[in-house]
Amino acid sequence: MLTPVPCPNCGSDDLSIDCYDTMRYSYTYVQCNSCLRLVKTMDSREDTIRRWNDLAARYRKRRPKTPQ
Ligand SMILES: [Zn+2]
Repeated sequence: MLTPVPCPNCGSDDLSIDCYDTMRYSYTYVQCNSCLRLVKTMDSREDTIRRWNDLAARYRKRRPKTPQ
């Protein structure tokens, strides 16, 4: 099963994954409990986690480690 990587924003692995329904739509989200970064989609849990992981991959590319 696909698991979310640590938060792209703050690096925390304290994440919430949940779904909720509104009148019309059902959403799945991954949220960081530390900085509250949120990825929310109307797709499956798997796709939502994939979206979160893609975001994390982009963050890493944009912010390379600063040289010591
Ligand atoms: Zn975070």
